[in-house]
Amino acid sequence: MENKIPAAELEARLGYKKTNFYEKADEATVKAAYDYAKGYMAYLDTAKTEREAVTVSIEMAEKEGYIPYTFGMELTVGGKYYYNNRGRNLYLFRIGSESINNGIRIVASHVDVPRIDVKQSPLYEDSGMAFFKTHYYGGIRKYQWVTIPLALHGVVVKADGEVVNVCIGEDPTDPVIYINDLLPHLAQDQSQKPLGKAIPAESLNLLMGTRPYPDCESNAIRLNVLALLNEKYGITEEDFLSADLSAVPADKARDVGLDRSLIGAYGHDDRVCAYPSMTALFGTDDATHTAMVILADKEEIGSEGNTGMQTELLTDLISEITTALGGNFSTVKANSKCLSSDVAACFDPNFPEVFERRNTAMLNCGVAMSKYTGHGGKSGTNDAPAEFVAWVRKIMADAGVVWQAGELGKTDQGGGGTVAKFIAKHNIETVDLGVPVISMHAPFEVVSKADVYTAHQAFEAFFKA
Ligand code: MN
Ligand code: MN
Repeated sequence: MENKIPAAELEARLGYKKTNFYEKADEATVKAAYDYAKGYMAYLDTAKTEREAVTVSIEMAEKEGYIPYTFGMELTVGGKYYYNNRGRNLYLFRIGSESINNGIRIVASHVDVPRIDVKQSPLYEDSGMAFFKTHYYGGIRKYQWVTIPLALHGVVVKADGEVVNVCIGEDPTDPVIYINDLLPHLAQDQSQKPLGKAIPAESLNLLMGTRPYPDCESNAIRLNVLALLNEKYGITEEDFLSADLSAVPADKARDVGLDRSLIGAYGHDDRVCAYPSMTALFGTDDATHTAMVILADKEEIGSEGNTGMQTELLTDLISEITTALGGNFSTVKANSKCLSSDVAACFDPNFPEVFERRNTAMLNCGVAMSKYTGHGGKSGTNDAPAEFVAWVRKIMADAGVVWQAGELGKTDQGGGGTVAKFIAKHNIETVDLGVPVISMHAPFEVVSKADVYTAHQAFEAFFKA
């Protein structure tokens, strides 16, 4: 037992523990993270729906020299392209100098967010108030959406194809809309109900107005709302049949905490990965690899439809790119690598009972890798192979990125999924890597500026490595 290595030294050599960003970062790096947050917060304020996110992202890409791509187009090395899929799903890609057969580096996130969608025949009047009927979108906790200021966003498409953009409630001089809740004095029965049942979906009606149209005998408030909408947007009640309208929180992104270390906002999930994926792509102009950023739609409802990640558009685009550059389609897919960048659940000391502390993402410990998601028994997940996890580990270590591993919560406590499995199924190496979020899917979610910055650093390392 001579010459035993001192325990502290052995622990340092053999043990592993997460790194906190603030333990490692110098003053300049912390400032860089705080500065980075400003651009992200501006993005959040202008991109509350997937359509707005795609529009703003195209503006950002065009400033960086990205041009619209159409199928069959010639592609050149160093060329920067974007494919706008129906205004709700965006592909950005840059052609690298190496052979396309080496594969594509893909970062895929989603830009749809849980919200309150407006039904097709929404407008009615009852007891002196006019309302819109709604059908919520994604995994919301309904009790969080009552009694907060809401804005109406979206498009109404007239029968002749004219697209009318609607946005009410974002300008400080705009009115907002609202969902009523019961006063506590009369909530005795409601308060006894389980949280998930206290606010029924069909009571999530948007309060649109209370003033009657003059000299109108019945439903005068309803008619007045129609008159106001027609005056502002030139639409009629029938036009609601072909509309994508959503109520979203009217708040803007704000610093949270006295040290301003956090960002509170609507829609971190998943713009907090979408925005860094773009800044990382734009920041690596010298890359040899062909790189792609995907901003997907409909992740929150299962990645369905022709703008969700289950569409064949990804493979169509890879096929087109491969053909244009003289590669082999199967080889390109087999050699492609993807970071499915979606948010992770952040450990919350207020609810320790649902988390497994050793395997949950901790705040300020960097972007979190989820080797697997899914439900009890890893059902429905792309469980990334150790080989690919090791590869990602190495590029993060080489770039000095603070990152951590983290799964959703306790086994059998619940679960969730991402776009990872819909990309992996094309024979593309894929793993989940995203920013930890507090109060995920709430109208006002919270993330750490440090963690957001590490996402940008991680994606940049991925595109470069
Ligand atoms: Mn998400
Ligand atoms: Mn989500």
